[in-house]
Amino acid sequence: MNVPVSFEFFPPKTPDGVEKLRATRQALYRHQPEFCSVTFGAGGSTQEGTFQTVKEILGEGVAAACHFSCVGATKSTVRQQLAVLQAMGVKRIVALRGDLPSGYGMGGEFHYASDLVAFIRSETGAAFHIEVAAYPEIHPQSKSADADLKAFAAKVKAGANSAITQYFFNADAYFRFVDDASRLGADVPVVPGIMPITSSTQLMRFSDACGAEIPRWIRLRLQGFGDDTASIKSFGLDVITDLCVQLCTAGVPGIHFYTMNQAAATTEILRRLTPL
Ligand code: FAD
Repeated sequence: MNVPVSFEFFPPKTPDGVEKLRATRQALYRHQPEFCSVTFGAGGSTQEGTFQTVKEILGEGVAAACHFSCVGATKSTVRQQLAVLQAMGVKRIVALRGDLPSGYGMGGEFHYASDLVAFIRSETGAAFHIEVAAYPEIHPQSKSADADLKAFAAKVKAGANSAITQYFFNADAYFRFVDDASRLGADVPVVPGIMPITSSTQLMRFSDACGAEIPRWIRLRLQGFGDDTASIKSFGLDVITDLCVQLCTAGVPGIHFYTMNQAAATTEILRRLTPL
């Protein structure tokens, strides 16, 4: 496959998880990712683990993108964290608003990701390649599809270089989003985020939370497999490979895999895409 790939990880919480992620990364590096990104708990809850994982990736000679969420943050703390990232040699940031757990007030000096993007640009110039999030199926809290598209365009206008989408299973939503964003002048590469399907319950839980739609036929097929994990995985590989083929054939600028710190499904999808 000639399309650039990137892999997303979350910071492990246990020494065992750290070891497993190291093995996952080594397995995935043979696909020569453009970069590997590490998520960041809103409110800075995973900051230490995120920065540590980013450091390890850089030490392995691979470009690393640090996710960075601003909800609840102050300009002064963000300024300090940006200095730490620059000193570490990080060149790419995924700039996000983030979601605070319920019960936390929004607080902080940033309201939207566009505020963070503008702040990073004003503080650090062109030091970072800034990625932002895009929602082909519309962010669950947005007032309307149109408002969400405008919010995306505002992030690009504030200085984002490119975007990674929330995962989706309907390629038409992605194509439509890219066309509409481009019409608003938000003409940056929009890389589809791809979630391999390995577990029905996990997928249903995530999708309900982030507003990604599971098409009825996929939901019903997954429900029909019950606890038969082998069938779920096999079906998931077919569905996601077909989606990637559709996207790659249409000329997407890259594919970003939400690996969930596992190598097997992503590796198999990439193996199946090799003839492309
Ligand atoms: P924004 O772009 O600020 O949008 C948030 C909401 O506000 C949207 O509904 C938007 O329409 C609306 N909005 C934006 N600007 C305005 C405005 N000016 N006026 C009115 N409404 C506005 N979460 C984490 O906690 N950690 C991570 O590491 C993480 N990584 C992610 C990576 C990717 C690729 C994606 C797609 C999501 C990720 N998330 C992560 C989830 C993300 O933090 C949530 O989806 C969050 O709710 C929105 O973040 P955002 O940066 O898209 O926010």
